[in-house]
Amino acid sequence: MCGIFGYVGKDNNVGNLILEGLKTLEYRGYDSWGIAVKNGKTIEIEKKVGKIGDPKLRFPKSSIGIGHTRWATHGGVTVENAHPHLDCSRKIAVLHNGIIENFEELKKELLEQGHKFVSETDTEVMPHLIEEGLKKEGFASSVRDAFNRLKGLNAIVALNADSSEIIAAKTGSPLVIGVSDDGYYISSDSLGLVPHTRNLLFLEDNEMVILGKTLKLISLPRGEEKTPDIQTVDWKFEKVDKGKYKHFLLKEINEQPQVVENIALNYETEVKNLADLIDEAFGTFLLGCGTASYSGLAGTYLFSKIAKKHVNFSIGSEFNYLEDYLTPKSLVIPISQSGETIDVVEPVARAKQKGSRIAAITNVLGSTLYRQSDFKILLGAGPEKAVVGTKSFTAMVAVLLFTAYTLAKRQAEGKKMLSLAAENVSEILKNHVGENIQKLAATLKNREHIYVIGRGISYATALEATLKIKETACLHAEGFAGGELKHGVIALIEKGTPCIVIAPNDETYDDIISNAQEVKARGGIIIGIGPRPNKVFDHFLQTADVAEATIIPQVVVAQLLAYYLALARGIEDPDKPRNLAKSVTVK
Ligand code: GLU
Repeated sequence: MCGIFGYVGKDNNVGNLILEGLKTLEYRGYDSWGIAVKNGKTIEIEKKVGKIGDPKLRFPKSSIGIGHTRWATHGGVTVENAHPHLDCSRKIAVLHNGIIENFEELKKELLEQGHKFVSETDTEVMPHLIEEGLKKEGFASSVRDAFNRLKGLNAIVALNADSSEIIAAKTGSPLVIGVSDDGYYISSDSLGLVPHTRNLLFLEDNEMVILGKTLKLISLPRGEEKTPDIQTVDWKFEKVDKGKYKHFLLKEINEQPQVVENIALNYETEVKNLADLIDEAFGTFLLGCGTASYSGLAGTYLFSKIAKKHVNFSIGSEFNYLEDYLTPKSLVIPISQSGETIDVVEPVARAKQKGSRIAAITNVLGSTLYRQSDFKILLGAGPEKAVVGTKSFTAMVAVLLFTAYTLAKRQAEGKKMLSLAAENVSEILKNHVGENIQKLAATLKNREHIYVIGRGISYATALEATLKIKETACLHAEGFAGGELKHGVIALIEKGTPCIVIAPNDETYDDIISNAQEVKARGGIIIGIGPRPNKVFDHFLQTADVAEATIIPQVVVAQLLAYYLALARGIEDPDKPRNLAKSVTVK
């Protein structure tokens, strides 16, 4: 995943400039960070393990530098493994996002040539390969030749102490160049660039860019120069802070009424267009990973029930193995908050090669998915800073639900359900249901496992609820289809095992209550979430009955429970759970 930020130009305070850029990219990884700046004919480096915080940099004045926030794939979280990585002469510094699949073979060759390695990363082969190249050719050709030897989906940026240029190349992972009067910026996303310039060049796969006094775009396979397509965007830069909230996570949970209401009020045309595409397609496939995948799973139930339409769903990373049946008549709907999830971006690129239509649902304007797609719906949820997805999930579900109602020619009803769901979420947030949830969280905090069951669309709700608990509170939670309990899972239930039961007022109610009884009979503690109380519930977190949109308030209750569980368990920063990153750009 990793965040990359670099600059070459007139500003001679490059260390701090990069540090500020990296802070906006920390959502991409926070195992370690590092910055390299050019100081005369040498390179100076600062690297640290952990989140960035507010460090005092000791760099001299310089106007060329590169920086990185890491999400480790190869090698532990140590200062040695933090980027940038250097060659033996300490003249070449390289940052990397991705996985060099053939690094072992390259490293063996370089070791045989006498190169010394100091890290366990795959990345470190790159500066040494460039160092070898420089023995026979210039900087740009060395970077190109070295990069062309890498297997996998990668993005790198290289700095050379003997040159006034920085060079970037990519076959995967996003890189955006900012072109301003004072110089060139390079970043993993456009957000960090917009405060500096609105003239952007989105580097495509198999391109390399040389940034110095001028900008030169090169084709990686052929080496020839290309004409850069620099776009001027009018995007606003939204500086977001926590406001009155202690954490972004709680703030974003609280923003959901507006997010859902916005979709109800302003998305008629978008969802009508998407509904038409689904209607015309011969086979529709929803794709997503993590939280987005559960919105996709919920979508299959929503389209079936509301629009009597079968849509398929696949986890993004599995779609590569299912895509043989795609045709130009297929419609692929990738769903991704960041629009950069490689496990979605990659299968979408393959689907495009097969001529299928792509209709993306994403939160980020200008993201890779946004640019890849023929048709797009922006979620309009605003920047989501907490790594754990909340408002993006409810926005995804709202869009899918509204589209299903529109496809069924019942758009007004869908709109009403969403507005009622938004209203109920406001009530849940205002009426201190949070306090009950806090008390409940305190009773659950030392449990080893929490199970969550649901049927129909609530199966998706159950899975999303467990993901929130797992990633926010670092507590093992497992979601099941209610009917599956007796096929094995019930063996796990013992006295005191908490089991959350997602019980909307729909066709699943009676059966899920029977499943709850089965758990209770074996000593389980039952926590019901839904509109109707029931005597089987030991705890009851009430939501309104807003038909199929009931999933929205139910998920919000689960998000609050996960948040308060995290606090009760002493998790310091629920905005940045351990081992995670928000934008997942490695496979
Ligand atoms: N493979 C590199 C490392 O482990 C980069 C990882 C990434 O892009 O997240 O340092």
